Amino acid sequence: MSLLTVGSVAFDAIETPFGKTDKIIGGAGTYIALAASFYDNEQKIVSVVGDDFPLDMLHQLEDRNINIEGLQIKKGEKTFFWSGRYHNDMNSRDTLITELNVLENFDPVIPENYQGVSYLMLGNLSPKVQSTVIERLIERPKLIAMDTMNFWMDIAMDDLKKTISMVDVLIINDEEARQLSGEYSLVKASKIIRAMGPKYLIIKKGEHGALLFEGDKVFFAPALPLESVFDPTGAGDTFAGGFMGYLASTDDISFDNMKRAIINGSALASFCVEKFGIERLTTISKTDLENRIKEFVSLVDFDIVQVIS
Ligand code: AMP
Repeated sequence: MSLLTVGSVAFDAIETPFGKTDKIIGGAGTYIALAASFYDNEQKIVSVVGDDFPLDMLHQLEDRNINIEGLQIKKGEKTFFWSGRYHNDMNSRDTLITELNVLENFDPVIPENYQGVSYLMLGNLSPKVQSTVIERLIERPKLIAMDTMNFWMDIAMDDLKKTISMVDVLIINDEEARQLSGEYSLVKASKIIRAMGPKYLIIKKGEHGALLFEGDKVFFAPALPLESVFDPTGAGDTFAGGFMGYLASTDDISFDNMKRAIINGSALASFCVEKFGIERLTTISKTDLENRIKEFVSLVDFDIVQVIS
């Protein structure tokens, strides 16, 4: 199937208790597209960079069969730059710098041969840009998923609610779900958020896994217990890319298949955090992924004999 990713392609500078990087390649769109490239789809990306962005990285995306016709390169402009510092627990971070640069006036252009795409993953971007992409697709994709963050809830809640009402799957973390719904209980929050439009809601809980809600059904997937988390940047985007990449390649949007998609996303995210930036994602093989999925299966596999007296 075909999968369109929309998201930032960026420079990041990251500080963790284990070290610090200068400007490295990052961006939600980069992580999503790289993760989704483990699956057999016709992949496309819509994004924007400045002419300071290394062409080599764009070629790496093409080498992974990602069509980059919709990735604009703005002459004389600078690529989006984000910098963050993680706390000792690695679960929380502070944003140190956000330089929007080319993202400030980003007008997402959809190349003609992107029309008719069947799956759409909207990475964390301004909700106006996200809804513009949906509006510019002549035919509605079979499944539209989106990610967002508290930043947009703080400054553009009305636009955000409009975009949320247009999608099928919303993927956010627990803190964002609480902020968006005004409810502490994630079960109550999930009802309030799904009443805003999306049929499916995925709540990511970092090292505590992820929840999938649809109707009265709930599924929980753990995160793989890792000995050390080196850099969590992009883990959420990698999860989303794996989730959508798997769904598109199987072309099955049943609840049961979404469970498998969540395990795929979680397995890819568990690799992402092992090294700085995209490094680990670009060095693992499909066999590494398959082996890690087996680890997930054995992590939750148990036999129960119920004894009720
Ligand atoms: P995550 O760790 O999943 O939240 O994603 C981190 C990635 O999101 C980084 O590589 C950043 O470049 C990118 N990012 C951070 N803030 C924004 C923003 N406001 N708009 C678009 N991308 C962002």
